[in-house]
Amino acid sequence: MDRNQTLTSFLDWAQHKLLQAEVTSPRLDAEVLMAESLNISRTELMTYPGRVLNHVEAENFRSRIERRVLREPVSHITGVQEFWSLEFLVNEKVLTPRPETEILVEQCLKALAKNSSPLKILDLGTGSGILSIILAKEFPQSQVTAIEKSALEVARKNALRHAVADRICFVAADMLKADWQGPYQLIVSNPPYIESENLSKCMPEVRQYEPVQALDGGRDGLDYYRFIVPRALEQLEEGGLLAFEIGHTQAAAVVTLMESSSGYRDIQVVQDYSGYDRVVLASKRVLNG
Ligand code: GLN
Repeated sequence: MDRNQTLTSFLDWAQHKLLQAEVTSPRLDAEVLMAESLNISRTELMTYPGRVLNHVEAENFRSRIERRVLREPVSHITGVQEFWSLEFLVNEKVLTPRPETEILVEQCLKALAKNSSPLKILDLGTGSGILSIILAKEFPQSQVTAIEKSALEVARKNALRHAVADRICFVAADMLKADWQGPYQLIVSNPPYIESENLSKCMPEVRQYEPVQALDGGRDGLDYYRFIVPRALEQLEEGGLLAFEIGHTQAAAVVTLMESSSGYRDIQVVQDYSGYDRVVLASKRVLNG
């Protein structure tokens, strides 16, 4: 047996290369890419540390590690990302789902838990489709409209994969120009919110590989909130919910936008698991309510 060709020796080699490239989780990434190269699960990897890789497997793994060394995101190399315990297809045209965005989903579920009527939901800037798809799954009676200006292929494929394509109406349009086709009980969005001048300070994975139009929120990062907050009032039913993901420094500004429009009540800021402000929610005021 050639010791240099075992699974463990390949993983050690890759971990070292990724560490040198300043990748933040070198061992984990090496394992994920190994599992993918061998077409087995990460748990199965641990069962065969001494397994010898054949030539094709070794080349598959090496080429994936070379890509990761250049800081291409793992999700782009594997083509998938897990979110809400489901697997979603991703590519360079959509923002890779982040774990923090699960807080936005949780808050929507919590706020609408008591609502037994079929919901009409709008997702602004749907990207890979995660919000539309999970909300469609969690509210089996709901109808979702998903507006996205770049290609919708990824979101459509994900909706098919998770068997909710028949309840999501995909609209290929710029949310700033499209007819939103309200009224809705829920409007949800994870809009681009990074300040333009900070884009160049993002990690290489983000700055070099993720779509800038999903990240760039204008000079102060708030362009989309400024547009959506007043507009959503025209498109929400009375009592309807507006729910945003935000950048962790933006809570006060987004709350102020909502307060100054005076059409919202019950404005709430929710933190993510790292303790950062991550979600802002509010309901449309009920007239005479
Ligand atoms: N959370 C993302 C990041 O910091 C930004 C997502 C967004 O702009 N909506 O990379």
